[in-house]
Amino acid sequence: MNLVMFGPPGSGKGTYASRLFAILKLPHISTGDLIRQEIKERSETGKQIEAYTRRGELVPDDIVVGLLKRRISQPDCATGYILDGFPRTIPQAEALEKITEIKVVINLDVPDEVMIERLSTRLTCKNCGAIYNSKFLKPKAEGVCDSCGGQLYTRDDDKPEVIKERLNTYRRQTQPLIDYYKRKGLIENVRNTEAAVPPERIVNQILSIIETRK
Ligand code: AMP
Repeated sequence: MNLVMFGPPGSGKGTYASRLFAILKLPHISTGDLIRQEIKERSETGKQIEAYTRRGELVPDDIVVGLLKRRISQPDCATGYILDGFPRTIPQAEALEKITEIKVVINLDVPDEVMIERLSTRLTCKNCGAIYNSKFLKPKAEGVCDSCGGQLYTRDDDKPEVIKERLNTYRRQTQPLIDYYKRKGLIENVRNTEAAVPPERIVNQILSIIETRK
């Protein structure tokens, strides 16, 4: 079963997808993580795409689709996966349709002020990519990842000036996908109006939706 976690930056896609992975045993594939890995490794692709993410813009479709294809050809993806941050444009959605069938698109519907508050207080593990928050989802020990002991940091693109650009990019290029998937009957809305809601509550809502779509 293939799922898409859809929503603006800071809507909780990665937070919920990682918890769903633990329950459903479906790999959590974040194209943002794949991109950050390429940049960290200083690969040819990494060098080509670094400037886009730094500015809060989208990486070109053909490059992201290539990274995604490589990842989902791995054996752990054989029975399905949870996509986080992909697709982000109509051409990406069309490319995905050629590769596989999507069962449901969970649209995380979150007001702007919640997204901004979450992004500006978000902490990410340098080692495993786990997501925390200095206000709403604190690690047990300050600055240290609960699951792997890695160091927590503020992503370069979680700085205020880039957050603004990422939200603009979302509205311009990604939001039109809601209508695209509505027409296909795949969208399920999950509304969350508070930054401090425990992730488990939203995860349970998502699990009930998945149950009805099986
Ligand atoms: P994320 O971790 O999902 O917030 O993604 C971080 C950054 O990686 C985005 O701001 C984009 O620059 C890039 N990115 C991630 N996923 C995609 C995608 N599907 N298409 C294009 N760029 C992406």
